[in-house]
Amino acid sequence: MATVAAEKATPTDRIFNFGPGPAVLPEPVLEEAQRDLMSLPGVGMSVLEISHRSKTFEEILDGAIADIRRLASVPPNYHILFLGGGASLQFSMVPMNLLDPDRSADYVVTGSWSKKAVKEAQKVGTVSIAATTEDENFTSIPEQSELRLDPEASYVHITTNNTIYGTEWHREPNVGMVPLVADASSDVFSRPVDVSKYGLLYAGAQKNLGPAGVTLVILREDLLARRPLPPKGLPTMLDYNTHAQNKSLYNTPPVFAVYILRLVVKWMLEEGGLEAIGRRNAEKAEILYDALESSGGFYRPHARPDSRSNMNVTFRLPSEDLVKQFVAEAGKHGLSGLKGHRSVGGIRASIYNAFPKKGVEALVSFMEEFAKKNG
Ligand code: PMP
Repeated sequence: MATVAAEKATPTDRIFNFGPGPAVLPEPVLEEAQRDLMSLPGVGMSVLEISHRSKTFEEILDGAIADIRRLASVPPNYHILFLGGGASLQFSMVPMNLLDPDRSADYVVTGSWSKKAVKEAQKVGTVSIAATTEDENFTSIPEQSELRLDPEASYVHITTNNTIYGTEWHREPNVGMVPLVADASSDVFSRPVDVSKYGLLYAGAQKNLGPAGVTLVILREDLLARRPLPPKGLPTMLDYNTHAQNKSLYNTPPVFAVYILRLVVKWMLEEGGLEAIGRRNAEKAEILYDALESSGGFYRPHARPDSRSNMNVTFRLPSEDLVKQFVAEAGKHGLSGLKGHRSVGGIRASIYNAFPKKGVEALVSFMEEFAKKNG
């Protein structure tokens, strides 16, 4: 790892961080946060020290909501909420709020996070597995024809990008009139999204949106109206109505995380919005997948071509010993965070929105050298 000067880190001290999350943030965001940390312009205090009920924070929150609405063309009948508890709390909140006791919910299982979502939903009500790709070690996303969907289900839950396995839905499944609920933690706002296709979309911030500590929830209003009374015993803090009615200010929200998220969203707009970001992400991923394909079998991609993720590129080497060597040598070249998840092995290169193309190019050069020496 590069040594960071004692006084002040500069962009040149930074390595290429391929970590799956918390992940790389845009440098202009870090610079603005660093500059304003002692005192927000005209405020005389840092964002860490101000009341969440102050005008300053209200402007940050309103700005974040307005910019997300603009960035993703979120229709007016959707709430935009900032909640605590990580994406993992949504595994519980979704069924607690939306799973009708007289119906079941359909879950499409495409990886470890989907399985965790299922486990929590089963504690709340009846879950039906609409499809699973576990028997092929989650190398793909199911086809529409493979989904066993119940037209009476309370909702259909999918994980839009499988961070661990490196697979991604390339289009939403057709779920008819049933609300589609998505865990979009690892590919949110990585490309254009038609929010109107979703009943609820949630994402932990720490990959594409900002630091850990805040979860974005985009929720269609009528899902709350469907059920005027909260289910008996639903804790106030776990009720979407609480947060929707109080604009995420029922209790103290994670102010610093929301502040950084707001800067990241502003950066995404300045970068040209989701079309431009999506194009860039596709280009970065293509460079890496091409390198895998042209390695003569030295690097073997985990995901099937039709299901590959533009966010997490996963692949194996001829042996796990070579994987260890690869990770160690890559580290010495300033390429960090490449070790695959323990359940898959191999390498995982996470290349979220803020990850620069030149980092992908540096990895590809390193891979070519490594394969030449060890192939
Ligand atoms: N879903 C997905 C797809 C994830 O990648 C992760 C975290 N890596 C989670 C859920 C869990 O998120 P959190 O740690 O915010 O609870």
